[in-house]
Amino acid sequence: MLDMLRKIVQEVNAASTLTAALNIIVRRVHRAMKTNVCSVYLYDPKTENYVLMASEGLNPNAVGHVSLSPSEGVVGKVVDRAEPINLEDASVHPSYHYVMEAGEEEFHAFLGVPIIHQRKVLGVLVVQQKTRRRFDESEEAFLVTMSAQLAGVIAHAEVTGGITVGPNDGHVRNDAKFDGVAGAQGVAIGTAVVIAPLADLDAVPDQDAEDIDVELEHFRHALEKVRSDIRVVGRSLAQRLKGEEQALFDVYLRMLDDNALAGEVEERINGGQWAPGALRQVIQAHVQQFEMMDDPYLRERATDIKDLGRRVLSKMQQEGASTPVNFPEDTILVAEEITPAMLGEVPTEKLIGLVSVMGSGNSHAAILARSMGIPTVMGVVDLPATQIHSKQLILDGYSGRVFVNPSAEMCSFYNDILQEEQQLTKGLEAIRDLPSVTVDGRVVPLWVNTGLATDVALSLDRGAEGVGLYRTEVPFMISQFFPSETEQQISYRKQLEPFAPRAVTMRTLDIGGDKSLPYFPIEEENPSLGWRGIRVTLDHPEIFLVQVRAMLMASEGLDNLRIMLPMISTVTEIDEAVTLINRAFSELVDEGHDLVQPEIGVMIEVPAAVYQARAFAKRVDFISVGSNDLTQYLLAVDRNNPRVADLYNVYHPAVLNALQHIVTEAHQENIQVSICGEMAGDPGGALLLIAMGYDVLSMNSTNLPRVKSAIRGVSYEQCVQLLSEVVDLETQEQIQSHITSKMTEFGLGRLTRQVLSVHPGKH
Ligand code: PEP
Ligand code: MG
Repeated sequence: MLDMLRKIVQEVNAASTLTAALNIIVRRVHRAMKTNVCSVYLYDPKTENYVLMASEGLNPNAVGHVSLSPSEGVVGKVVDRAEPINLEDASVHPSYHYVMEAGEEEFHAFLGVPIIHQRKVLGVLVVQQKTRRRFDESEEAFLVTMSAQLAGVIAHAEVTGGITVGPNDGHVRNDAKFDGVAGAQGVAIGTAVVIAPLADLDAVPDQDAEDIDVELEHFRHALEKVRSDIRVVGRSLAQRLKGEEQALFDVYLRMLDDNALAGEVEERINGGQWAPGALRQVIQAHVQQFEMMDDPYLRERATDIKDLGRRVLSKMQQEGASTPVNFPEDTILVAEEITPAMLGEVPTEKLIGLVSVMGSGNSHAAILARSMGIPTVMGVVDLPATQIHSKQLILDGYSGRVFVNPSAEMCSFYNDILQEEQQLTKGLEAIRDLPSVTVDGRVVPLWVNTGLATDVALSLDRGAEGVGLYRTEVPFMISQFFPSETEQQISYRKQLEPFAPRAVTMRTLDIGGDKSLPYFPIEEENPSLGWRGIRVTLDHPEIFLVQVRAMLMASEGLDNLRIMLPMISTVTEIDEAVTLINRAFSELVDEGHDLVQPEIGVMIEVPAAVYQARAFAKRVDFISVGSNDLTQYLLAVDRNNPRVADLYNVYHPAVLNALQHIVTEAHQENIQVSICGEMAGDPGGALLLIAMGYDVLSMNSTNLPRVKSAIRGVSYEQCVQLLSEVVDLETQEQIQSHITSKMTEFGLGRLTRQVLSVHPGKH
């Protein structure tokens, strides 16, 4: 049964349209369960009815016509109860609804299970039989499992089916809407440029060939290189391989023959597709076929084909044939997963938006996007990225939505918002040089978080009073190898010098979790709970010491360096790291450097640290709260997973409680307590943090003017009052809506645009 299930799901996955997918489902389930009828009803948002979309066994003319309201018939009952209904004879059930054109009258036994995706009933999967009998438990279990597995596939097919009519015919529906998660606020109207990471065949977009001959040439060239690599490897291993293993190399070469894969790829290029897209289409089609085979040996061959495809793609990429060279003036970069290196590929002045299929609002890609002030939508899991290259997009970074091929009406709606945004930005420019102080005189230092080289100029331009977090892993992520001590020293100096004498807080390398280095991969089942941050660098003192030495040398003569340790969960880690820092310091002094001892601080990012805040505070000069990770760990919600993005919320009462606890505890040791998580950059959040007693708020430079504007518009007393009201509330929703209404009362409503509540595409 399991095998059958797997095969059906795979086959459905491979279907190119929703109709094809549904037909496969009914045909296969009908056969697997040996029933007289198998049908699928799907919800139609326009009529709010459930429509018979495919059937094996009912009158074919009824398909597409029979439509039931959620209160109609036994199918309606399944929807209403959102659970299976198993009847010996449906015709005697009180809810039975006779639909003449379906020809149901001869069927008695009925089993209907809901198809549920993300809590919504998408439809109902029904099997029926002529005899009067109850379907047995194993049949019910099969159908329930089938439906649970198919729900995601159907949901995906529904949205992608909305975009493409027929396989790759390039016809795109107007205003096709894809939901994701808000990444960076703002709106962008522009042209999609889809970038695939190196050697990721599945992410290669479809694209029209500009010059078919050039594309053919690229492909043939790459193919020849791969063939020759295979021959070389085959020859060099000839001595050690048995005959049959040796024969595998011949099989690979044959697969690449003109009358096999290569021929098919060329055919598609001749049909107008660029070479990488043609390669992806052919390889995917073959992989799907192999994966559906019964024979485990043949099934395994899918891996070989994937590998061959990847090799040919790599060769093409090495020759520079697979990244778009022309970026339009209004580029919206779309990728499976946005990386810092990709951001560097697009000229900054042309980049107006980012869309990432993976990741969530607090993934590091989103944080970087926020610091660059580029509207971003993350986690648009249903977006058929390979099909939208060069299409027109609207990106709504407030509500986390992307529209493909927007209508004129939609464009005009979003153009109005763009204009509003511009006005707000202009208004905020006016307070650039004014102090960050409440109306009753409380000074709130606003610092910035940096990472990219461009952050420095932007931050200074927006009146930053220091750097509360320099994410040193960002330059590491862009580099090809671990940067040398001198390279690090040079890039750190570029951060320290422009800010001097203002403090610059450099965080030691914080890799792991969703921040991986291409040259130092960390593969773990559970990376957020694994080898991250200080855990990695304490295990690799050579990396840690080089970095600390580079920081110290870079600070020579400036004396504005602060060193901060990430992901600390025990005092032992602090003691060990401080010992290493002291060692690097004395070595450098011995070598003749003229250095001032830097302040050392720790981040509080894990629940254990919350409860040891005081013990930590005794050992360091300052504490900075990383509310992004703290929220993730306190709420047990992966900050990168769009599925649980709704649960990730810094305004959860438990998070606010923890934030208060940390500052109260740490202040007893008379040290500075700052916060550098994204919450500090939210105007409403900033007011709460001020009331809690945070000494410094550190945020991305884009948000700094908004936060300053909020601070200048309230009194400290109002902040304290707001906090006292909020602590009595029990849910994040209540807290957030209370903050929003209070902000409006304070006259700060313009700063709180979170989600657009009405627009033409809202369903
Ligand atoms: C945090 O976790 O809040 C933080 C500032 O660090 P990062 O987002 O880089 O993990
Ligand atoms: Mg963190």
